[in-house]
Amino acid sequence: MSIRNFQRFVRSESAASAVLHRYRFAGGLGRGPLPVARCPRCAAPGAYGLADGRWRCGACRYTFGLLTETWLEACRLSPLTWLWAIKLFELELVAQQAGVQLGVSYPTILRAFTAIRRALLAAAEPTLFRREVEADESYFGPRRPARSRGAPQNRGRSTPHKIPVFGILERHGRVQVTVVHDCSAESLLRETLRTVKRGSLVYTDRWGGYDTLAFCGYRHLRVDHGKRFSRPSATGKVHINGLEGFWSYAKGKLLKHHGVSPRKFPLYLYEAQFRYNHRHEDLFDRLLTILVRPVPDL
Ligand SMILES: [Zn+2]
Repeated sequence: MSIRNFQRFVRSESAASAVLHRYRFAGGLGRGPLPVARCPRCAAPGAYGLADGRWRCGACRYTFGLLTETWLEACRLSPLTWLWAIKLFELELVAQQAGVQLGVSYPTILRAFTAIRRALLAAAEPTLFRREVEADESYFGPRRPARSRGAPQNRGRSTPHKIPVFGILERHGRVQVTVVHDCSAESLLRETLRTVKRGSLVYTDRWGGYDTLAFCGYRHLRVDHGKRFSRPSATGKVHINGLEGFWSYAKGKLLKHHGVSPRKFPLYLYEAQFRYNHRHEDLFDRLLTILVRPVPDL
C-alpha cells in the first residue's frame, strides 16, 4: 500500500480504529457499515458496546477491547500509532529509527517490532514442496568470533561461532528456512524429508552430506560450483542460484540490524523469509491481517 493511500487510515484515531476493527472482525478493509464485534473467548456475535469503547459479550460476559488477545496488545500504542509502526516496519526502518519518527521510546517500539516478528513466525505455515527444489545450507553471523582474532581461521563447513541455516527453495516459488543444530548429513536429510515430497527433483551443491538423498526417494542433481559460471550445464537448470540469491537477500537485511543475538536470530530470519515470499504482494495488508489474529497459547 502506497503512503498516499495509507494517509487516509491515519487521518484520525477514529479512522485508524475503524481500519483495525474491519481487519479484526471482517478480515480486511471491505466497505459498508462496520462489522459487529465478535467475542474472542466464545466467538458469539452478540457483544454490546460499553461507554469506554470496549464491548461485553452477551453470551459469556467477557469484556474486550479492539486489541484484546491480538498481537497488537503487546504494547500500549494507540491504533493510529500502531498503524504507523506497522507501516514503518513494512518500509524496513529499524526500531530505533521508527521510534524517533513516531516519538515513541526505544523499548516500546522494540517491543512492538518484536511482536510483529513473533506474529510472522507464528503465522509461518510449513509447506510441503514438490516438483523442483533447490536445497542448500548457509552460515549466518560475524565473519570471525569476537574474541579470537589470533586463532586460526575456521575453514569450509566448520564455523562454530556461526548459526547454520538450512533452506529449501521451490523453483519460481517460495523459500523455507530453518535454523539447524548442525549441517551434518543427518540434519540436512531430516529437514529435507520434512519439507520436500518424495519423488521431487532436488538440486544441491556437491557436498557429500547430500549423497543420501538419492537413497531416500528423491531425484538428486548436483551443481558443479567450479564450472557453473563458465560452462552452463546441458539442461541449463542445474544450479542453486535461487537459494544463493535468497542467502544474500537475507544477509543484506540482517546487516542493517548490526548484530542480532542468537536468541532473536530466528525472528529476523523468518522475517526475511516472509518478505521474500510475499515480495510481490501488499505487505501492509498481509501484516495487518496477521497482527489482528489472536495470539496462540504456547
Ligand atoms: Zn463470549
